[in-house]
Amino acid sequence: MSVLRDLTEAIRNQSVEVIDLTAPLSADTPIIALPEPFGNTRRFGLSEISHYDERGPAWYWNDITTGEHTGTHFDAPVHWLTGKDGEDVAQVPVTRLIAPAVVLDFTAEAAADPDFLLEIDYVKAWEEANGPLPDGGWLLYRTGWDARSSDQAEFLNANETGPHTPGISVPCAKWLAEQAPVIGLGVETVGTDAGAAHSFDPPFPCHSSLLGAGKYGLTQLRNLARLPAQGAVVIAGPLPIVSGSGSPCRAIALVERS
Ligand code: MN
Repeated sequence: MSVLRDLTEAIRNQSVEVIDLTAPLSADTPIIALPEPFGNTRRFGLSEISHYDERGPAWYWNDITTGEHTGTHFDAPVHWLTGKDGEDVAQVPVTRLIAPAVVLDFTAEAAADPDFLLEIDYVKAWEEANGPLPDGGWLLYRTGWDARSSDQAEFLNANETGPHTPGISVPCAKWLAEQAPVIGLGVETVGTDAGAAHSFDPPFPCHSSLLGAGKYGLTQLRNLARLPAQGAVVIAGPLPIVSGSGSPCRAIALVERS
C-alpha cells in the first residue's frame, strides 16, 4: 500500500480530478489600480530574447516582467504592515502549500450586490451545514467574479466612488484571522479585500488581520465552481522570491470523483 502510488494512479484513471484554479498570465491579465498617490504594479510582460533566429538559432525564450501581485497570486504575511515581522514568500513552509480547502459559495449574493460582504454568521451557518472549516486549510470564497476576469474594467468594477467587488466584513476578517483554524483565504477577485475596503475601519481588514496573524492570501482564482463544498486539496506554488511579499502562483485543486 502506497499513498503516493494510489494518488498518481487515481489521477491517471481520473478518480481524482486535477482542476486548474489559475488565470492565464499575459499583458491582458487584470491588475489592481490604486488611486493617487499610491504606487501601482506593472502588467505582466514578455520580452523576447530569441525565437529560432540569429539571436538564438535553435531556441526560443523570453524575459518576463511581473508584479508579485499580478494575476493568480499568493500574499505572504510581510505584504502588510501588520505582518512585517512574519514570513516573506520564500519563507512559507512548503508543507503549507498543500492543504485541504472548503468552498463557500456566495455567487448569488455577489450578483445581487457587488459590495456583498461575508459575515461571521454566514460562515457559521455554512459550518452547520457542511462541517467545520479545515484546520490548516483554505477558506475559498466563491463569488462568481472569475467570470469577469478576462476584462480589467469588469473585473475591477469601478465607478466614481472606487471599485465595487465582494469581500469580507471587518469582524469576519478578524474572526478568520484569530478564531478560525484556516491558514488562509482564497478569493476570485483582484485582492482578498472588498473593492470598497479602503473605506472600512480599519481599512483592508483581510490584509490587516489575516496577514497580521501570519496567514496567507490567494487571489484571482478560477474554477471554484468545479470544487465541492469540502474535500478538495489545494496545491499553491508561489515562487520563492527571496524577501518577496508575494508571487504569481500556479494554484491547482485535487478533487475526488466517486
Ligand atoms: Mn496580493
